[in-house]
Amino acid sequence: MLENVRVVLVNTTHPGNIGGVARAMKNMGLHELCLVAPKEFPSEVADARASGALDVLGDAVVVPDIAEAIADCQLVVGTSARERHIPWPIVNPREMAAIVAPSKQKVAILFGREDRGLTNEELHLCHHHVHIPSVEGFSSLNIAAAVQVIAYELRMAELYPENLEQERPKWGTDWDIELADHQELERMFVHLEETLVDIEFLDPENPRQLMPRLRRLFMRAVPDKVEVNVMRGILKAVQKKLK
Ligand code: SAH
Repeated sequence: MLENVRVVLVNTTHPGNIGGVARAMKNMGLHELCLVAPKEFPSEVADARASGALDVLGDAVVVPDIAEAIADCQLVVGTSARERHIPWPIVNPREMAAIVAPSKQKVAILFGREDRGLTNEELHLCHHHVHIPSVEGFSSLNIAAAVQVIAYELRMAELYPENLEQERPKWGTDWDIELADHQELERMFVHLEETLVDIEFLDPENPRQLMPRLRRLFMRAVPDKVEVNVMRGILKAVQKKLK
């Protein structure tokens, strides 16, 4: 069940929250937990808060950075308690579950730091942002509570697929070519940025929001492996002509 879903916690400060997340996950049938540079882990406090979910904690993988946590994922979802500078495709937890639960893709769902959430840069690694529609002015849930809401919707989507909206993106369910994963997309973005500097379209001294905007454009399209290769081929040809 929901084996394609990886919960990623970024720089979690309180080990108790990690335990709370593990418990929330196990209750809803999620198992794969990845911790990006947690402040304190393993921890007895985490174990205590996890109650019976010690297996989730025991199998949790600790990595130094987000890139490693999501390298093999074709779909990346970021959670956010508030609106950010550049708006991104945003869904509520139910809409997210309708996309994620039936997907055969490897999916990462990112959760941010207790005090300041995910950075804009981290949010720009994502295809979708999911916001739990809390009240304005007091919008941020405890991280384990946020994981609970998201995991519950995934569980409901898994148990009652007949309740899912008919209209949902086909990406990743019936596509002829495998979707590009995070690592392949990142290589394309690095190559794109390089080329834009080479042709003097992008001024590295004054990049503005060009790369985030281009990122958003490509992430919205959810490119497959062949499309990414074609893009890289074009960039290579441009760079070759310049020489
Ligand atoms: N002050 C931070 C809140 C961090 S809460 C901020 O403004 O971003 C810790 C984490 O819990 C968030 O990074 C997010 O992963 C999750 N979370 C909390 N409230 C949420 C909400 N309303 N919708 C989606 N995720 C939420």
